[in-house]
Amino acid sequence: MKRIFAMVSVGLVSAGAVLVVSRTTISAPVPAPSAQAALERNFDAAITIDEMRGWLQRMSAEPNHVGSPHDKANAEWELAEFKKFGWDAHIETFEVLYPTPVSESVELLDAQPYKVTLQERPIPGDSSSSAKDPTLPAYLAYQGDGDVTAPLVYVNYGMLEDYKALQRMGISVEGKIVIARYGAGWRGLKPKLAQEHGAIGCLIYSDPVDDGYAVEGTYPDGPARPSQGIQRGSVIDFTVFGGDPLTPGVGATANAKRLKISESPVILKIPALPISYADAQVLLKTLGGQVVPKEWRGALPITYRVGPGTARVHLAVKSDWSLKTVYDVVAVMKGSTSPDQWVMRGNHHDGWVFGAADPLSGQVSLLEEAKAIGRLVSQGWRPKRTIVYLSWDAEEPGLLGSTEWVETHAAELKQKAILYINSDTNGRGFLSAGGNHDFEHFVNLVADDVTDPETTVSIAKRLRAKMEVEGTRRGATDEAKAEAKAAIDPSKDFPIKALGSGSDYSAFLEHLGVPTLDIEFGEEGSNGGVYHSRYDTFEHFERFGDPGLVYTALLAKTIGRLVLRAADADMPVQQAGDFADTVTGYFDQVKKLEADKRNAAIMQSKMLAGNAFQLAADPTKASSVPTALQSVPPIDLKPMDLAVTRLAASAKAYDTACAQNGARLAPAARLRVASLMQTIDQTLAPPVGLPERTWYKNLIYAPGRYTGYGAKTLPGLTEAIEEERWADANAYARFTADALNAYSARLDQATAVLNGT
Ligand SMILES: [Zn+2]
Repeated sequence: MKRIFAMVSVGLVSAGAVLVVSRTTISAPVPAPSAQAALERNFDAAITIDEMRGWLQRMSAEPNHVGSPHDKANAEWELAEFKKFGWDAHIETFEVLYPTPVSESVELLDAQPYKVTLQERPIPGDSSSSAKDPTLPAYLAYQGDGDVTAPLVYVNYGMLEDYKALQRMGISVEGKIVIARYGAGWRGLKPKLAQEHGAIGCLIYSDPVDDGYAVEGTYPDGPARPSQGIQRGSVIDFTVFGGDPLTPGVGATANAKRLKISESPVILKIPALPISYADAQVLLKTLGGQVVPKEWRGALPITYRVGPGTARVHLAVKSDWSLKTVYDVVAVMKGSTSPDQWVMRGNHHDGWVFGAADPLSGQVSLLEEAKAIGRLVSQGWRPKRTIVYLSWDAEEPGLLGSTEWVETHAAELKQKAILYINSDTNGRGFLSAGGNHDFEHFVNLVADDVTDPETTVSIAKRLRAKMEVEGTRRGATDEAKAEAKAAIDPSKDFPIKALGSGSDYSAFLEHLGVPTLDIEFGEEGSNGGVYHSRYDTFEHFERFGDPGLVYTALLAKTIGRLVLRAADADMPVQQAGDFADTVTGYFDQVKKLEADKRNAAIMQSKMLAGNAFQLAADPTKASSVPTALQSVPPIDLKPMDLAVTRLAASAKAYDTACAQNGARLAPAARLRVASLMQTIDQTLAPPVGLPERTWYKNLIYAPGRYTGYGAKTLPGLTEAIEEERWADANAYARFTADALNAYSARLDQATAVLNGT
C-alpha cells in the first residue's frame, strides 16, 4: 500500500505534467489544481488493499446469482457499510422475471449413448470452488423451455456469416439441433439465429482454441478454462429492449403492468444449454458430412465436420418462471452547492456462481471509493454536486437491476444526471475506457495523473505505448492504425471506445442519453478462462486476475478521481472537439460502407450471371449459390454531411471560448454554461429511437442488432445500410443529422454565454 501510494504522488507532479501541457490550453479548467491534487492524495491514502481483499473473499464466499441468499446478504451487508462510511443509503427492490432451471438434460442417442454433465466438479486446491456446491447447474437464462430430439449440425460461431456459409454448403438446420462455439459475437445471438433459421434446439460450448488449453495452461495449473468448465450466461434478446422482459420501458415495481411471458419478444422460443468442451468433443466426434472450412476448426483432437451424423441428440430444459426480487443498493452523498446535479457511479454485485472477478473485483473498488469519499467528508470536505453510488443486482441475466432503476427514475435522471461511471470485471494490465467522446479529454486528464504500478509511468502513457505498438503491427486493423496515430501525437487525446452493451451503463447511455464512462484495467491478468463458471473464485482471481489486488486499488484511484473532479469542477468537464472528430470518423465509415455495399452488389450480380459460384465449387460436394445482394439505390447523406461540418465548427468555437473565457466567467454565466452542458448529450437520444427497437434512443451509440455487446456507431443509419433497409437509411440520415444539429445548437448557446455575446 505504501509503495503504490508513493508512486502515485510522483505521477501527480511529473508524468502528468508532460502530457497535459499542450492539451490544457484547449480544456475546461477543473478547480484549483493544487487543492484538487491534495484532495486526491487524501483520497488515495484511504485506499487499503487488505480491506478490499477481505471484502472480496467475503462477497465471493458463496454463490451469488439473483435470488440466492448470499446475493441478498451481500446487498444488505453493503448497505450497512455505506451507512458506516457516512452515506445516506437504502435498498431499492424490483420484481423481475428471472427463470432458473428445474430440470435439464442433454443426451447423445447413439449405439453408445452418452449423458452430458451440466455440473462442474470442484477443483483441488481451490477451496472456494469446493466449499459450496452451486445451487444451479450451468444454464442459459431466458432460453425457451422444450424437449426435443434431432440430429446435430455444427454451425461454427453461429453468426449470420456462418449461416450464409452453411447455405453455400447446401446444409439446412431446419428441424435440427445446432451446436455453436462461443466467440465472434454475443452468446444470445447464437440461439436466436438458430431459431430464425428453423433449428429446434441449440448447444453452445467453449472451444479450447479460443477458451481453453490452446490459449494457456488450464486451471488449476494455469488460468485457462478446464475441460469441464462451462460458460453460463443470459440469452435474453436485449438488442430489442433492455431490462426485465415483462416491463419494457417502465420500472418493474411490484404493481407494474406486465406482459405475459408468451408475449415478451425478448425470450427465446427454443431450448438451449451451454456445455463443456469435454462434452462437446463427444458430440462433435459423431458428426458426418463435409469437413468444415479451415476458419471453422477448433483445437479439439477431432476432424471437424458440419454434420448431421447418424446419432441424434435429446435436449430438454424446464424452468421455474416465477418473479424474483432484486436488491439495488443506492447511496447518496449530498452536494453542498449543486445538490440537483448528480455524479453517479455503479457496478453490479450479482454473479454467476461465486463471481470473484465478474463482478466483485470491480465492486470492492467501488466500495473502497465510497469509504474514501466518506472519510474526506468526515474530514470536512463536501462535494459541490451530489454523488450517487449504486451497487446493482441482476446484471448478469440482462442488466435488470440498473435498467429497472433507470426506468423508474427516468424523469429525475434526465434533469439531474451529469455523468454515470461504470465498472465491472477488473484485472491486471492496461486502462480501457469507453463512453461519450465529449468526455474523452476528461478521461485523458485523469489518466495522465494516475501511475501504472508495473512501469511507474502514467496509465495514459502506458496505454498510448500499447496503442502505438498494436497499431503498427503487421495486419493491424484500420481502427488500431488510427488509434496509434492519435496515441503518438501528444497534442491529441488518446481515443476512448464507443460503448455497445454488456454492462450497467446501457440504460443510462442508450435509453436516456445520459453520458457514461466505462472504466477497467485488464488484458494482462487472465480472468477470461473462468468467465461465468464455477471457477471464477477468489483463489483464481488472486493467482491470475490481479495478484496482490494492485489493479483493484488502481481502479479505485482512477474512478475516484473521475468522481471527485466531476463533482467539484467549476466548468463542465466535456470537451466538444474530441466528439466532433470521432463523429466525423464514424460518418466516414458510413460513406465507405455504402460504397463497399454498392460495389459488392455489382460484382456479385456479374458473378451470378457468369455462373462463377458453380464453376468455382468442387462438383463432388453439395453446394449452392448465395442469395443475390440487393443493388444499392442512392442514399441522401447530404443532411449528415452538413451536420458533421457544422458540429466541427461549433465544437471548435465552444472549446476555444471555454479555454479563453472559462476561468474568468462571472458566477451567473458559469451556472448558465453548466446548465446548458449538463443535458447536452441527451440531444443525441431524441424520442424517435432506433428502427424496430425504439427503446434504444441514442443515435450515436448502440449495441448492434447482430453484434450484441459490440457497439454500432450511428446505428440507425449504419444498420439500415448493412441490412438493406433503404427507406430507413434515408430517414435515419435525417434523424441523426437533426440530433447532431441539436447538439451543435446547444454548443452555440454555451459559446455565446462564454463570449458574452
Ligand atoms: Zn459483470
